[in-house]
Amino acid sequence: MNMDINKLVRKNVQKLTPYQSARRIGGNGDVWLNANEFPVAPHFELKEQSLNRYPEPQPEKVINRYAQYVGVTPEQVIVSRGADEAIELLMRAFCEPTQDSILYCPPTYGMYQVSAETLGIETKTVPTTADWQLDLQGIKQNLDKVKLIYVCSPNNPTGNLINPDDIKMLLDIAKDRALVIIDEAYIEFSPESSVVSWLANYPHLVILRTLSKAFALAGLRCGFTIANKAVIDALQKVIAPYPLATPVADIATQALSKDGINTMKLHVINLNKQKEKFTNQLSQLPIVEKVYPSRSNYLCVKFQDNKAVFNTLWNKGIILRDQSKVIGQQNMIRITIGTQAECEAVISALKTIK
Ligand SMILES: *Cc1c(COP(=O)(O)O)cnc(C)c1O
Repeated sequence: MNMDINKLVRKNVQKLTPYQSARRIGGNGDVWLNANEFPVAPHFELKEQSLNRYPEPQPEKVINRYAQYVGVTPEQVIVSRGADEAIELLMRAFCEPTQDSILYCPPTYGMYQVSAETLGIETKTVPTTADWQLDLQGIKQNLDKVKLIYVCSPNNPTGNLINPDDIKMLLDIAKDRALVIIDEAYIEFSPESSVVSWLANYPHLVILRTLSKAFALAGLRCGFTIANKAVIDALQKVIAPYPLATPVADIATQALSKDGINTMKLHVINLNKQKEKFTNQLSQLPIVEKVYPSRSNYLCVKFQDNKAVFNTLWNKGIILRDQSKVIGQQNMIRITIGTQAECEAVISALKTIK
């Protein structure tokens, strides 16, 4: 019996292609520098054995420890299956499909668009200025029906921070109309720039965090939303009943212990040193046009011929992220800061290109 299942698929979903996540592009790499992961795996032992039971919906220790780590109350935190799930939960709680819009400012993180498209929520884009800051005037003119504004700082893929004064102005512009979501996935690499302390003044500010980057736990799938209680309460209504598996909560609890946080901070110090060294080495290569300053764990690098760079390194098993199809990113490649050996492998491989 023949049947065209695709006919049954939602119209907006028929048009989609699966997200080109870094892990999906394939390649036989042994040096993975395309997903902004931490280069070494931390060691954890599972302590919790009660897998016959459902997990706690919002594991108390994880919530309490995260709240303490960022300096908010536990009722201002919700934990989810990565920050990616939080991006989508906000849309499910706040946007009417086909009526409401989200707004974001490319070049930026791809999942804002992907989540909106899968949910049938309109997207508005206001590209950043040439120096990768917010075009506040452009945003102001495009706020009709916008419920959520996503801003990533430090921004992925560019690595720069968004000017705090501009974020404040954006919050003023959005007052009584929309939530402003600051995606701080990489904030541990520039901790003094977090806007968490602003929550007291802005009821419509929302902050996204993750254990995937500086905490070196991308495989755990654990992220956080920090906001005032009214926002968190709305998210509690749409989140799955048991978003975190018991082993995930177990390891997240350990990662957020005093020791776990100190280890993360040491990792950040070392990685930032490695970043500085790598930046200097790259800047000296004739094929490099520019290494953009980075406040995160990756570099945005402009080459004369980024295709040659991407392919040559790919063939040597070094996998980078080619940004050439992204607006505002022509001839750029995003390179995650790896171990010292991995960074040296990149430099040697680049030296073979004439
Ligand atoms: C990696 C990343 C995320 C996703 O984090 P997960 O917790 O792994 O889902 C969110 N936002 C940005 C900007 C990222 O780079």
